[in-house]
Order: sequence, then C-alpha cells, then structure tokens
Amino acid sequence: MTHDKTTPILTFRDLPSVNSLLDESAIHLLVEVYGRETVLTEVRHVLQETRSDLQNGNSDLTSIVFLIQQISQNLVEKFQLSLRPVINATGVILHTNLGRAPLSEAALEAVQQVAGSYSNLEFDLETGTRGKRQQHIEDLVSEVIGAEAAMVVNNNAAGVMLTLSALASGQEAVISRGQLVEIGGGFRMPDVMLQSGVKLVEVGTTNRTRLADYERAIRSETTILMQVHPSNFRMIGFTESVPLSELATLAHQHNLLCIDDLGSGALLDTAIYGLEHEPTVQESLAAGADVVLFSGDKLLGGPQAGIIVGKRAVLDRLKKHPLARTLRVDKMTIAALAATLDHYRRGNATTHIPIWSMIAMPLPQLRQIAEHWVALFGGFIVDGESVVGGGSLPGHTLPTALYVVPVASATQGQIALRDYNIPIIARVTENQLVLDPRTILPSQIEIVTAALRQLLN
Ligand SMILES: *Cc1c(COP(=O)(O)O)cnc(C)c1O
Repeated sequence: MTHDKTTPILTFRDLPSVNSLLDESAIHLLVEVYGRETVLTEVRHVLQETRSDLQNGNSDLTSIVFLIQQISQNLVEKFQLSLRPVINATGVILHTNLGRAPLSEAALEAVQQVAGSYSNLEFDLETGTRGKRQQHIEDLVSEVIGAEAAMVVNNNAAGVMLTLSALASGQEAVISRGQLVEIGGGFRMPDVMLQSGVKLVEVGTTNRTRLADYERAIRSETTILMQVHPSNFRMIGFTESVPLSELATLAHQHNLLCIDDLGSGALLDTAIYGLEHEPTVQESLAAGADVVLFSGDKLLGGPQAGIIVGKRAVLDRLKKHPLARTLRVDKMTIAALAATLDHYRRGNATTHIPIWSMIAMPLPQLRQIAEHWVALFGGFIVDGESVVGGGSLPGHTLPTALYVVPVASATQGQIALRDYNIPIIARVTENQLVLDPRTILPSQIEIVTAALRQLLN
C-alpha cells in the first residue's frame, strides 16, 4: 500500500505497519541516534496509541508525517537530561533557583579545556613533582584582592563551617542577635555554628548591638568575634550595629579572631550603577578582619564556590583541617573561578562577566529590546524593577523596561513559555505576563523572539 504521507489516518486500515514506518528515511535517522531497539519500541508505542485513539473515536486527525513527528518528539523528551538551560526573563539577576551566575565566555572555555583533558591540577610543571590545587586560585585571589592568603571550598556555607570548626570548635563565638540570619534553602547561621561544635554567644538585640555588648561577652572560652552580612533583609528605623573595624580592633585587643561572612562579597562598587554600596571584600580586609568569606556565584559572577581570604597563619589552620578535604573543589570549579578572577585582574569584569553586564545595562538599551517586541507582536511596555538577588542588596532595585506580552491568560502564557524547547521563565504580575530583558543573555534574545512568535500566532 502506497499512499501520501499526509493522508489522514481514519481507520485501522490506514495505519502503516511497523515495518513500513521503520523504512521511512526520517526513522532511519532516529535509529542512527537512538539505536534500533529504542526506536522500534517507540514506533510500536505510538502505533498502539493511535489505534486506541481510533477505537475511542478520537477525532484528532493524524497522518504518517504526524506519526513520525510524534515518535521523534517522544524520543527527544525521553532522552532529555533533567538539568538543562533555561532563559531567565524574571529580572532577578542572581536567581538561586535558576543557578545563580551564568559564566563568562572565558570561564566556559577554561572549564572545557581543563575538563576534557588532563591538567596540572596537582602537578608542579617546573619541578615535575606534586603541586597544590589551591595554588591556582590563591595567587590570583591575592593579586586581585590583595589578601595574604586564600582558599576555595564548595560553597560559602562550607566555608563558614570549615572556618568555625577549624578555629573555634569547643569554644565560643560571639555574634549579634541582629545577624543570626537564615540565608535561604534552610541555611540558618545558628545551626551551622552549632554543627561546627562552636558555642554561640548571642549579644545585643535584634535591632541594636553595641561594641560594649561584644566586650561584655568575652571570656576565656571566647575565640571569635563574628560578623554576618544580613544578606536578604534590611533593617530600617531604630537600629545600631558595630562597624567591622571596631569589631576587629576589639578582637585583636583580646587576642581573638575577627571573622566576616560577607555572603555576596562584591569586588566592585555597586554604587556606580545607582545601587546601594554593597560592602566589598577589600573593605573587610582593610577593616582588619582575619578571615573574610564569600560566595563564588553571587556578585563575583563565577561558579558555585566558597572563597576564604585572610591572614596566612589563620588560613594555614583551615587548610590543614580534615574537613578541608571533604569540601575540596573540582577542577572545573577551579578553572571557571580562575577565569572569572582573571577578568577582575584585567579590569574587564563589567564587560565580560554576565551578571555585571546585566547590572550595568542602561535603561534605554532594555527599552529598545522591549520596543522591538512591541513592534513585532503588539503588547506594551511598563516601567519595572530588576533585582540583584542572591542575598545581596535587599530592598534595592534597578529600573527596567518590562515587556507586557499580549496574551489572554497570563498564567497560560507563562506555562507555554516554560514549555518552549529552551524553557523561558517569565513573571506574572498583576495578571500580566511580563518579560524583563535585563536577565536575558544577548545570545538568547532571538530565541525569546521566536518563542513569542510561536506563542502569539
Ligand atoms: C549566601 C550566603 C551564604 C551561603 O553561601 P553559599 O555560597 O550559597 O553556600 C552564607 N552566608 C551569607 C551571609 C550569605 O549571604
């Protein structure tokens, strides 16, 4: 039986046989990719489904072309890996659920080169003997930040855990009640401190803590005065906290260590972009902190990592602690982190690190992207706000131009965009489906345009 491949299949008699489908050239291509057994199973499955559709009087017209499309689509979905790229149109720059910072081109290239080959990860090319994996980062960090010593672990939470375990286990750390924060994902500062075997001594009140509060808490068991950046909330009104420099001075007068968990840890001044000034790592070191901790994938704009910088003698104790081995980072992380730090060394971080390009993107440029969509598809633009996110600059936003997509149902539209072959994550605000161009990577703008075309046609 030969018939047109677009002829509707209306009865069992119109159904192609398994073998005739397997003879189709499009199916041959699928066999090359997925193997004969897998394709055969899918061919049988789709034919069986079509048969029951016909039996149930399902009126959806189908044809051989449709069947082949269905088989192909099912196979693509079946072999789709769970972790996949998405397009972030939410306007939240450091979106933890969407993987925080996208890497720079150079960082990607560095990962690819090191991951697909052997490397000198722990090999000294000069002497031909064993080298140290931390060294690849330590020298760069020291150069860029001006720290005496540095090390890198899996994430900042791990950094806090290692620091406290190595420096104060069985002893006491003093911290302000205003800084006993929960960072998100269930990361609570008091829990981490307890886990490290450190006795937490809370001082002050939620809104006010003074230097005298710390001073009164110091006794022979005290080892650490700790500051934690209250990353994701902001206190306004009747508040008082102790400047890091004063805390460090007090610590050193009593032979204690001053530890600063910065969280986001900016290296550049966010105030240049109209944002509040986020404390920088350099400032913490200059203020006298012995150890400063921050994330690799927040405002630094690199891979997930915890970076620990500070005094050499103190960092040596961390490096020797058994936990350090369990928190050790992979070569891909080191490659990406080194390439990210290299942007700061070269002074091209704002143009080459994606999250900094997003922060720096001027409003007219965002408006232009939104206007392009209005011209193509209708809809309109509203003033909106992008946020930095990732536990930095809570309550501070960047002005943006939101594209309001002309759809009847905002939630249906949101689902449809999420269902696109590269899922697009959009916002629904006040029953409107909106896209913030700020967090869409330049290379993804055209993909979003294509998705809108499909959605709105
Ligand atoms: C984000 C944050 C952490 C946790 O950092 P991760 O790199 O996500 O583990 C710890 N402390 C503070 C203050 C933070 O803002």
